[in-house]
Amino acid sequence: MAKLIDGKAVSQKVKEEVRAEIEREGLKVGLAVVIVGNDQASRVYVNNKKKACEVCGIRSFEYALPEETTEKELLDLVDTLNNDPEVNGILVQLPLPKHLDSEKVIARISPEKDVDAFHAENVGKIMIGNYAFLPCTPAGVMELIHSTGTDVSGKECVVIGRSNIVGKPMAMLLLHENATVTICHSRTKDLAAVCRRADILVSAVGKADFVTADMVKEGAVVIDVGMNRNAENKLCGDVKFDEVEPKVSYITPVPGGVGPMTIAMLMKNTLMAKRIQSR
Ligand code: NAP
Repeated sequence: MAKLIDGKAVSQKVKEEVRAEIEREGLKVGLAVVIVGNDQASRVYVNNKKKACEVCGIRSFEYALPEETTEKELLDLVDTLNNDPEVNGILVQLPLPKHLDSEKVIARISPEKDVDAFHAENVGKIMIGNYAFLPCTPAGVMELIHSTGTDVSGKECVVIGRSNIVGKPMAMLLLHENATVTICHSRTKDLAAVCRRADILVSAVGKADFVTADMVKEGAVVIDVGMNRNAENKLCGDVKFDEVEPKVSYITPVPGGVGPMTIAMLMKNTLMAKRIQSR
């Protein structure tokens, strides 16, 4: 039987550390969160980020813009936030309404305030291993793996998914810790056989019940990044939990695994942004 990796507990610890540092040093740290339109899931994420800011002693500035906001209006707001010394981090909640070019908007955020680490400059720094901000979800996954006491060095790691937000940076962070990394995607041949090689399997696909017991190695560490709705509209991950759990050594639940870590790492990045801007 696997041990559950408690993302809530690990994320709580990260947030407490952020709060303690801010209090100890009497820092004034601010995060601006921009949300455009009425996407319900985005609204929930933004509310959770605001709550985490309160826990950490970070001031949050919310900008809720109407669906019909023009690209110029949004870019102008980003410029204003870039120049506001009270704002250390800027997060534009994705996805944006279709008429707005998210790449253009992200490119406009000052790299020093890009707490999501989506700006090309920060992505490039992650590639060369000289980074200040780590992308929140992959960084959260690394914290969860570390919390198990697993040494990543030399391990076979398989990441399913190659998105810019999760899969690719996830693979880079594992590589930086000397894992042997394979990235899988929709064209991967014999996915199950590749996954069975994994000492550490990270799934970021976005399909319920995608990872089944025949795809995992006995004793593996399984991290489920997926956030899906099942037939009963309940939140679930990519992993068929009931059949995979008995076979592996550690596994993250959904909810309560990777999700809370993403927000905790955002808090950590916002504090890091403050430090960079104070240099
Ligand atoms: P994405 O951009 O849709 O990427 C999904 C990846 O899965 C793609 O690379 C795709 O391959 C691959 N894939 C799809 N079907 C496949 C198949 N049959 N076999 C192998 N690979 C397949 O999604 P994302 O943004 O990375 O997010 C992935 C999941 O993580 C989603 O459920 C999302 O909600 C969740 N997520 C959670 C958090 C969190 O905080 N917990 C944060 C971010 C994302 P191709 O590239 O070939 O199409």
